[in-house]
Amino acid sequence: MTQGRCLCGALRYEIDGPFIDVVHCHCSMCRKHHGTPFATWAAAPLSGFRWLGDTTTLRTYQSSAKGHRDFCSVCGSVAPMLEEAAGMVIAPAGNLEGDLGMRPTKHMFVGSKAAWYAITDGLPQFEEYPPEFGMSSTPREPVAVPAGVTAGSCLCGDVAYEIAGPPLRMYYCHCSRCRQGRSAAHCANVFYKAEDFRWLRGADQVQDYALPGAQFFGTAFCKRCGSKVPRVSVERNMVNVPAGSLDSDPGITPNGHIYVDSKAPWFDITGELPQFAAMPPRR
Ligand SMILES: [Zn+2]
Ligand SMILES: [Zn+2]
Ligand SMILES: [Zn+2]
Repeated sequence: MTQGRCLCGALRYEIDGPFIDVVHCHCSMCRKHHGTPFATWAAAPLSGFRWLGDTTTLRTYQSSAKGHRDFCSVCGSVAPMLEEAAGMVIAPAGNLEGDLGMRPTKHMFVGSKAAWYAITDGLPQFEEYPPEFGMSSTPREPVAVPAGVTAGSCLCGDVAYEIAGPPLRMYYCHCSRCRQGRSAAHCANVFYKAEDFRWLRGADQVQDYALPGAQFFGTAFCKRCGSKVPRVSVERNMVNVPAGSLDSDPGITPNGHIYVDSKAPWFDITGELPQFAAMPPRR
């Protein structure tokens, strides 16, 4: 039995029975919806899925003729997709608690992965869907950004932003808040000065969620599609940009993996980036 929950706890669920597969997806929709370089999906038979409590905060964004993206309207966490026709639930592994009894088996949609993100593990990679899925798709056209401009947008396009200054730092954070908030193995946050940041459109479409009891932690997301978008702190002159929302290169190499002591048990950190048990020492 695996329990799952969104960051704010309004959506809770459990999945009974072994998972069928766990897959990393690099498609542009996953990147924008989660705000991360990739999403990790755990599939299980729908018969074993149960909501615990009500689902009044559940919202659905119709991302294509057949596709939908579900999320919590309070905190923005990605919600499980109940696929009646396929008889499957496809849950964001970042919101599942404990071990999954299974490790990720592959990367899909590496043909549309973020150019700045390097896959460093040895798992099989597929340009689009793996053949056993029996599915095809038309990758979305990337959002065009002029050279030299740092810009991003949400999945539905209602929210867009631009950054005029250089990045300050970038981390892959593995803490449980980031995993639940981004519904992913870890977040990929780039920090810029708030004074360099401006919304191009949709500022009034951004929903902010401040985690109760946390000093700074919170999320910001598009009310319509649930995509993670930058969270601006004017007081700290800081903006936290979910790298998956960027339509251009963040212009920085990640400073490392942080809070690796609280990483997801099903995720192996690979590659050469420095790893820190919690916060890195101040430079
Ligand atoms: Zn929530
Ligand atoms: Zn995807
Ligand atoms: Zn949107």
